[in-house]
Amino acid sequence: MLGVPQEQSKFREFVRDFVARNVTPYVREWEGAGRPPGDLFRRMGACGLLGVRIGEESGGMGRDIWFLSILIEELMRSGSAGVVMSVLAHTEFAVGVIDREGTPDLRERFVKPAVRGEVIGALGITEPTGGSDVGAICTRAERAGDEYVIDGAKKFIGNGSIADFVVTAVRTGGRGPGGISLIVVPADARGFRRGPPLRKVCGSSLDSGQLFFEGCRVPAHNLLGPLNGGFRQLVRGFESERLMLTVMAYSHMQLLYEEARRYGREREVFGSKLLGFQTWRHRLADVRTTIEASVAITHRAMARHVSGEPANDQISMAKLFVTEHVASVAKECAQMFGGNAVLEDSLMGRLHRDAFGYTIGAGTSEMMREMIASAEGLRG
Ligand SMILES: Cc1cc2nc3c(=O)[nH]c(=O)nc-3n(C[C@H](O)[C@H](O)[C@H](O)COP(=O)(O)OP(=O)(O)OC[C@H]3O[C@@H](n4cnc5c(N)ncnc54)[C@H](O)[C@@H]3O)c2cc1C
Repeated sequence: MLGVPQEQSKFREFVRDFVARNVTPYVREWEGAGRPPGDLFRRMGACGLLGVRIGEESGGMGRDIWFLSILIEELMRSGSAGVVMSVLAHTEFAVGVIDREGTPDLRERFVKPAVRGEVIGALGITEPTGGSDVGAICTRAERAGDEYVIDGAKKFIGNGSIADFVVTAVRTGGRGPGGISLIVVPADARGFRRGPPLRKVCGSSLDSGQLFFEGCRVPAHNLLGPLNGGFRQLVRGFESERLMLTVMAYSHMQLLYEEARRYGREREVFGSKLLGFQTWRHRLADVRTTIEASVAITHRAMARHVSGEPANDQISMAKLFVTEHVASVAKECAQMFGGNAVLEDSLMGRLHRDAFGYTIGAGTSEMMREMIASAEGLRG
């Protein structure tokens, strides 16, 4: 498809070159703007990078999460977690679920143009009243003839302010997880409104939108999959979303390590390079060890996920371990930079800030612990 190399090492080289030319030089500008431009999506789409796991019949590559992890690792080399989140919120969180669950008509109308980068997608689950308890969402959709009428609000939605469509979790049935459905809401639907984007202390180039549905009318055939089957569809997506964030987090640590190692070889204090001091050599040795452990636990969980065996507990452990460690690795590496660590525009400054957020998105650390404890049968 579109000349993207199909072999892993060639694919990595291709993406590395793409990122060096089309992403890294512009990250500072996009952090300031609070979003990457539509042109990034069009460029990625034009060379086939927006459909790694999308089916070939929808214009994608039809590859698995191992291939996707190469794209994530290489995109992370731009030094902007926000840009990577924005791409994943589009290709994986929003487009992926339509490709898996949608009718041929929905795939034609939304997936194909999204893979080409002509339109941008978002996945709207979290509400102003909370995100961890997905089964309790309140945004309601009532059937009225051949339409659904939606009322409610969503918050923290990645790409929310720039999206052309939002895969929206709505309550179509009774209380709890069994009453939730997914509906594709086009941004030009009547009664759909957006608030100002939320400004964040991390991941600044990910647009985080606030969405309002006020008697919002959407054709009934935009329902994704079976009525009241949305929770199961979301849970299926959560496994790979968590793996993606975990790949981002270990790639983030690797960048922190490389930046600290570079600085440690250059910066002189008391007549010696920083890495001339055993304390810094040992601290970076600890960081390297943490990265090795993080990659190993992630790949173990990915192998289980790809094999089709139940992987929820392995994935929760990987997400918990790696995302909790990225913050401590960031603290160690930033400390080495002294005052230079707090410069807003520096790479280390951004990596330090962006290290926060991984323990919240796609399920918090507390939710991961709950799932591990439940799988282990831990109860009083
Ligand atoms: C960078 C980023 C991108 C995001 N992108 C999206 C997106 O694209 N789409 C989307 O829908 N959402 C998105 N979110 C929202 C995210 O999914 C939620 O923030 C997350 O699920 C937590 O929900 P909450 O913030 O409402 O916290 P709450 O659910 O209110 O939880 C508050 C605190 O209580 C803890 N807690 C909750 N329940 C328990 C419990 N039973 N036991 C102990 N502690 C508990 C939580 O772990 C947390 O620490 C994003 C968030 C971030 C930070």
